Amino acid sequence: MYDVIVIGGGPAGITAAAMAINRRLDTLIIAEQWGGQTAYTMQLQDKETYEVITGEELLSRFRQQLDYLDFCRHFDWVAKAEPADDHFIVQTEDGDQFESLSLIIATGAKPQRLEVPGEERLAGQGLSYSVVAHGALFLGKDVAVVGTYRRAQLAACELSQYAHQVYLFAPELLPADWPLVPVLRRLENVKIHEGATVLEVKGEHFVEGVVVQTVDGATMDVPVKGVFVKLPRKPNSELVRDWLECDHEGRIKVNLYGGTSYPGVFAAGDVTHMSEQVLVHIGEGAKAAAEAHGYLLGLKARDG
Ligand SMILES: Cc1cc2nc3c(=O)[nH]c(=O)nc-3n(C[C@H](O)[C@H](O)[C@H](O)COP(=O)(O)OP(=O)(O)OC[C@H]3O[C@@H](n4cnc5c(N)ncnc54)[C@H](O)[C@@H]3O)c2cc1C
Repeated sequence: MYDVIVIGGGPAGITAAAMAINRRLDTLIIAEQWGGQTAYTMQLQDKETYEVITGEELLSRFRQQLDYLDFCRHFDWVAKAEPADDHFIVQTEDGDQFESLSLIIATGAKPQRLEVPGEERLAGQGLSYSVVAHGALFLGKDVAVVGTYRRAQLAACELSQYAHQVYLFAPELLPADWPLVPVLRRLENVKIHEGATVLEVKGEHFVEGVVVQTVDGATMDVPVKGVFVKLPRKPNSELVRDWLECDHEGRIKVNLYGGTSYPGVFAAGDVTHMSEQVLVHIGEGAKAAAEAHGYLLGLKARDG
C-alpha cells in the first residue's frame, strides 16, 4: 500500500511526486510519459534561444530525481481510479493494480486545435496556444486570436497591451453579457470578427498571416506575426468525474490547498483550472503534495 499515488507526468504530477518523495512518503507516480504539454517552445525570427526557458528545462531536475528512484515511477495509462473503503485502487491499461492511502490527480488537459493547414508546421514558429507564455514576445506586432469564449477574450485583452493590432476571430457570436466583451469592443487596437472561420495559417518558416472566411462568406488574407489558438480545452478528468466534484466543463474543483470534494484526494494543474503555465503548475503540484502529507499525518495520528 503506497502513501500516495500521483497520476500524470506533466509539471504538476512530476513536482507533486518529487515533493512527496522529499517528504519521505511512499510514493508512486503513474504517467503515460514524462513532460505532458511542456514539449512546446516558441521560436521567433528575431528572438535568441537564450531568452527562452522551456518547461522541460524547468522540470528536468525533478524528473532526473524520479528517473534515479525508478521504483517510484510506472509508465502506463491509468484506466481506473476509485475509492475502496479507506484507501484507493488504481488500475492501469496493462492490467497492473496499485493501492494507496491518498491520490493526487494531475492528468492535465487537451488543447483544442484549429485543424487547418499550416497549424502543425508553424506551431512554435509564431503559432501558440498560450498567451501567458508567449504574449509578451509580440510587442508592437500584429497578432490574431482564434476563439470566442473566456480564454479567447482574456487573450485578446492581454495581447492588446503588447501588440500593435489584435484581430479576434471568433467562430461564434461573442456573448453580450460576458464582462470582457464590452471592454474588448472599446479597445482601439482590437478588431473583432464574429462568425469568422480561420482556413489557413500562412508562412514559410514563421507565421506571416491567416486566411479567414468572414460571416458573409468572403475570404480575406490578414497579415500577422502571431496566432494564438484559444478554443476551449478539455480537462482529462474522465477517471474521477463520477465520484469527484467537477465544474460544468469537467475541471476538478479544488480548494486553496488542492483538496477536492473527496477526503484524501488532491488535484493540481490544468485538470483543475486553466492557468496554463508550467511555473504555476509546479507550485500547485508542490502544494498538493504538502496537503497529501498533512492528510496522511492526520490518518497516522488517528490510527495510532
Ligand atoms: C502548445 C502549448 C504550448 C504551451 N507553452 C507553454 C509555455 O511556453 N510556457 C508555459 O509556462 N506553459 C505553456 N503551456 C501550458 C503548459 O504546458 C500546461 O499548462 C502544463 O503542461 C499543464 O501541466 P499539467 O501537469 O497540469 O498537465 P499536462 O502537462 O497536460 O500533463 C498531464 C499528463 O498526464 C497524462 N495523463 C492524462 N491522463 C492520464 C491517465 N489516465 N493515465 C496516465 N497519464 C495520464 C497526460 O497524457 C499528460 O502527459 C503550453 C501548452 C500548450 C498546449
